[in-house]
Amino acid sequence: MIFKKSADYFQVAQGVWGTRILFVNVYFIANRRGFPKGWVLVDAGIQGSASHIISVAESIFGTGAKPSAIILTHAHSDHTGALEELLKQWDVPVYAHEYEVPYITGKSSYPPSDPTVGEGIMSIMSLLFRKKPLDVSKNVRIIDMENGIAELPEWRIIHTLGHTPGHISLFLPLNTTLIVGDAFVATKQESAIYSISNIKRISGPPRYMTTDWVAAEASVKILSSMEPRIAGTGHGPVLRGRELQEGLRNLAENFVELAVPAGGRYAETPAEADETGTYYVPPFRSTTKFKAVAGLAGALAGFAIIKAFVK
Ligand SMILES: [Zn+2]
Ligand SMILES: [Zn+2]
Repeated sequence: MIFKKSADYFQVAQGVWGTRILFVNVYFIANRRGFPKGWVLVDAGIQGSASHIISVAESIFGTGAKPSAIILTHAHSDHTGALEELLKQWDVPVYAHEYEVPYITGKSSYPPSDPTVGEGIMSIMSLLFRKKPLDVSKNVRIIDMENGIAELPEWRIIHTLGHTPGHISLFLPLNTTLIVGDAFVATKQESAIYSISNIKRISGPPRYMTTDWVAAEASVKILSSMEPRIAGTGHGPVLRGRELQEGLRNLAENFVELAVPAGGRYAETPAEADETGTYYVPPFRSTTKFKAVAGLAGALAGFAIIKAFVK
C-alpha cells in the first residue's frame, strides 16, 4: 500500500481542504453557506487512491460523507485516476469544461506527452498513463461557464487553458482563494525529486504534458491579475500571501524564460482541440538534447556492430 492509512489532509482556507496522494493533490470544498448545503471534490487523484480520498472525506465531513459533485480541473490521468472507482461509491455528477469532455467520454485522447522536457518524472508518469481512454459519460456534465456550478454557487469558474484545452481553475472572490489544477504548480513537477519530496517552488504548468504555451501564459497572467491570497495547485504545497502574489507575478511577467521549455515539441506550435477533442498535433522534431542521446546511442550501436565484425 503506497498511501498512508490514516486520513491525512491539510487546510487550505476556511471550508477548503486538500490531501496529497504521492505527488498530486485533490481538494474538498464545503459550501460556506453550511455543510448541509454540501461539498464537492476537485480532481480524483491517481489510480488506486479512491479509498484514501474517501477516508479523508469521512474525516472531514463524517462517516458516509458523499460529495454533491466532482469537479475536474482537467482530465490527465494523475487527476482522474481514481474517478471510476469513486463513482462506484459516489454516483454523482462529474463537471468538466466542454473542451475537456472528449477525454472523459472516450471520444478523444490527449496529444502525446513530450519526453524531451520530462527531466525524470516521465518514468513515474508513464506508469500512470491510461492504456484506454476514460469513459464516464453517464456522470459527465458540461460546466456552464457563465453561471458556474450549481453545487458550488459561491465559486467562479475560469477557463485556464494551455496545459490542456479545457483546463479550469476555481476562484472564491470572498477571500481570493484559487484552486488552479496544473495552470501553475507549487513544485518543479518535471523533477522527480522536487515532486515526490513536495519541495515548494512556483512553476509554470508541468512541461511534459502542456500542449499550448501561448494559452498557458495568458492563463497565468489572468490568475496573477486576480491577486489571490491563497492558491491550492495540483502539485506541491499550498501557496499563500506575498510569497504567492510575488511568485505568481514573477512567473506571469517572465513566463517564457521561467516556464516554456526550449525546443520542446509544443514550444512553438501548439496542439489544437475543440469540443470534439484533439484535431491537430505538431510533428515531433528531434531536439538538440534528443539528438545528442540518439547520437550517442547510434555511436554505441555502431561500435558494437564493428566489434562483432572484427572479432
Ligand atoms: Zn495535468
Ligand atoms: Zn497534474
